[in-house]
Amino acid sequence: DAKHLGRNTYSFFRPQMDIEAKRAISLELDLRHAIDHQELELVFQPLVDLKSGEIKGIEALCRWEHPIEGAISPEEFIPKAEDTGLIYSLERWVIHEACAQLRILHAAGFPNVQVFINISKRHFEGDALLETLDSALSETQLNAQLVSLEVTEGLMLRNADAVLATMQKVKQRGVRLAIDDFGTGFSSLSYLRQMPVDIVKIDRSFIQDLPSDTENMVITSTVIAMAEKLGLMPLAEGIELPEQQSFLQDNRCYMGQGYLYSHPLPMPELVRLLCRNNGQFISQTAAG
Ligand code: C2E
Ligand code: MG
Ligand code: MG
Ligand code: MG
Repeated sequence: DAKHLGRNTYSFFRPQMDIEAKRAISLELDLRHAIDHQELELVFQPLVDLKSGEIKGIEALCRWEHPIEGAISPEEFIPKAEDTGLIYSLERWVIHEACAQLRILHAAGFPNVQVFINISKRHFEGDALLETLDSALSETQLNAQLVSLEVTEGLMLRNADAVLATMQKVKQRGVRLAIDDFGTGFSSLSYLRQMPVDIVKIDRSFIQDLPSDTENMVITSTVIAMAEKLGLMPLAEGIELPEQQSFLQDNRCYMGQGYLYSHPLPMPELVRLLCRNNGQFISQTAAG
């Protein structure tokens, strides 16, 4: 009978499933606990103007130090948060915290810096994002123009109407939208035209082999030119080498981020770095 079959099936898979299922469940509980007890942290990576070398923005990136397992990558816990619905409370915390930390940076003498916040595409399917955004902006008295939300290009694949409606409402508030990891998803050009986005972040995988890989040179320069024609700002992710910076400058991409300038840092360290370098990431002679 079915009961018997079920039991046999279960025991057949048992040893491996037990371990994986237990880890999955305990990670979910631990993540819930971490969110509720504010045990997550944000680090911030500078976004650099490749013409002037000045810091223009920071990207907020979430960190989780698990009490037993140690640091768990957002590549692991963000999808988990999406699957379990924890993403709403996680990103509510991220948005509030990122806005509050930006005020600290402003007060430290860098009042024009913008903050970029990663948002799950799931969060664009309802109204929760707008409520969170409104409360964070009013609580921190932050100018909405200084906030950008990053979404990956796959976000239009499901519930495109609901997602577009949320995007429009985000834009009405003066908050900007950036497409993250551009070039790695399915959507590309036709979607870009439909979406009310302002910034195109070119994925690190295209930047990393510049300027030796001709294919990635062609892709990168084409995306930059296309962004320019559509009136969008291109921004290169994952710049690690001066040659990559030069290639981007030569191809009219004037915003970038990467280890060449700084790793993502906790706010106190970022403030110290900016006070040391005066908010300048490219030496004047090199910037020309
Ligand atoms: P992302 O938004 O594309 O962020 C850029 C990732 O590249 C970050 O990894 C950053 O540390 C890393 N990176 C920056 N510069 C360089 C470089 O020069 N070389 C290399 N190799 N890597 C560089 P991280 O912090 O591990 O985050 C991974 C992803 O997790 C993010 O990719 C983002 O998709 C997601 N994520 C992080 N925080 C959040 C969050 O609060 N909400 C959501 N929805 N997603 C988040
Ligand atoms: Mg991002
Ligand atoms: Mg990215
Ligand atoms: Mg990414």
